[in-house]
Amino acid sequence: MATMGVSYFGNRMIQHVERDLKELKAKGFTDILHTVSENDLKFYRGTMEEIIQLSKEIGFTVTVSPWSIGLVFGGEAFSEFHIHHPEACQVTQEGKRLPQACFNHPVFRGFMKKWADAVSGMGADYILWDEPHWAGQGGWYFIGQNEWTCRCEACRDSFIKAFGCDMPAEWNEDIEQFRKDVMIDFLDELSKYAFGLGVKNIVCFFPNREKLIVPPEWEKAAGLEAVETFATDPYWAGSKFAAEEFVDFYVKAAMDIAGRTGTKPQLYIQNFRIPGGKESDICSAVEIGWKNGIRDFYTWGFNSCAHMSFLRSDHPEKAFKAYYETVLRKVGCSMA
Ligand SMILES: [Zn+2]
Repeated sequence: MATMGVSYFGNRMIQHVERDLKELKAKGFTDILHTVSENDLKFYRGTMEEIIQLSKEIGFTVTVSPWSIGLVFGGEAFSEFHIHHPEACQVTQEGKRLPQACFNHPVFRGFMKKWADAVSGMGADYILWDEPHWAGQGGWYFIGQNEWTCRCEACRDSFIKAFGCDMPAEWNEDIEQFRKDVMIDFLDELSKYAFGLGVKNIVCFFPNREKLIVPPEWEKAAGLEAVETFATDPYWAGSKFAAEEFVDFYVKAAMDIAGRTGTKPQLYIQNFRIPGGKESDICSAVEIGWKNGIRDFYTWGFNSCAHMSFLRSDHPEKAFKAYYETVLRKVGCSMA
């Protein structure tokens, strides 16, 4: 049984959401992802509940993602976490406090638990812990090439407990290991918490676009007790690699990890910033996923993000169609 999902964001008007959801259902979509940002949490709580409930009534399985919360997850959204909780934000080795939240800080973990409470109350089936990342060269607020995090008080305390010495001011392997361990610990705590609320967990790390590499913490995260699905989102446009090579590498990696950890593999297909004439890359990505055993498909995002100039593909209609028609063709062939 294959599933076909799509992310949906940028519209909080229920009557328009309803029309889009019904169109998607008629096309054969089974799953939908709603982004729940800090803005949603603050101003659209009731609306998001209505949107999620409506999605379920129409028959979708609903995933939510912490869109750009604390500026440490994937997403095109603003964050004010750093205004209210500067003490829980990342600090560089020079002592500069950044707007990105620290995965180790109990205040941020508490905040994310409240977010999980909220999305669970709205009726979410799954949480996608989407592209959690430390401050660096990705995201919306780059730090300097020589800067690194995190030397906040909480991290320095934890480092002493873990390594028996002060955190060095110079980057070294222990710090690298410490950050990976903190990330896993964060995902472990939050996924267990969400699971306790009755919400299932998906983890997804953004693949490296400069080199084909699978960091060891991916498998550790997939192997966490409360994680059900391991997703990968090899968005090729903007990477150093051809679409097919890039997707093939990360799909195979995800299948291997899922196989070894007993999780379900899930594949996100790019559907934003697709240049005109390159829509066939989307078909190829679906084909590669299917050939390697992926049956849980998602695309980012609805109508190839036609509504959002920052992400819009050149020919959104054509690009979106390339996704669902290819998935449906594969499903149809497998049933014939
Ligand atoms: Zn920290």
